Amino acid sequence: MSRPRKAEDPIRLPVPCNRCGQHHQTVARWPDGGVCGYCYQQAKRTRGICAFGHEGVLPGIIDEQPTCRRCSGIRLNVDCVSCGAEDELDSGGRCWTCALGNVVDDLLTDPATGAIAKDLIPLGATLKSMKRANSGMTWIRQKHVTAFLRNLAVAPKITHEIFDQLPDSRTREYVRGLLTEHGVLPQRDELRMRYNNWAA
Ligand SMILES: [Zn+2]
Ligand SMILES: [Zn+2]
Ligand SMILES: [Zn+2]
Repeated sequence: MSRPRKAEDPIRLPVPCNRCGQHHQTVARWPDGGVCGYCYQQAKRTRGICAFGHEGVLPGIIDEQPTCRRCSGIRLNVDCVSCGAEDELDSGGRCWTCALGNVVDDLLTDPATGAIAKDLIPLGATLKSMKRANSGMTWIRQKHVTAFLRNLAVAPKITHEIFDQLPDSRTREYVRGLLTEHGVLPQRDELRMRYNNWAA
């Protein structure tokens, strides 16, 4: 997933990036040379196991092989302030998983009690453990998803009827499905419900 690049500017930026060879703003001087913003982002997102067995973020390149910070001598902050994991960090210095966890807790907390309703705890756990936490963040930050979860956080009870009263949306049905999977909501024949609603 790479962002579309801006046009190169060889007049203002005569020295090309050491990695991609294009004329973009240099954002870091690493032992292998000046690195542009695009290559910097890509380096931060490169994960794997380096030639010397270190597993984590591999921002360096030695003999065309990705290498860890220690092997490459690159200084880069990729240590999550919450869990210590080595990962791409958000502006608060947290990895995607911790950042997502924070957002989930925040959205599902009932402001009146300062706590998450017991019925919503399994939902919180499921949302937090999404495999791709950065996609999870993109999903959860959408206005309609945020609004939906805030509504749910203050719902008096978690029942199908409460769900039915919330605005009909894919988010609603997705969350309903998750809660059913976790046994918070009983199984219900959604197709028949829809038919009944339509027939009514
Ligand atoms: Zn570059
Ligand atoms: Zn290494
Ligand atoms: Zn973390």
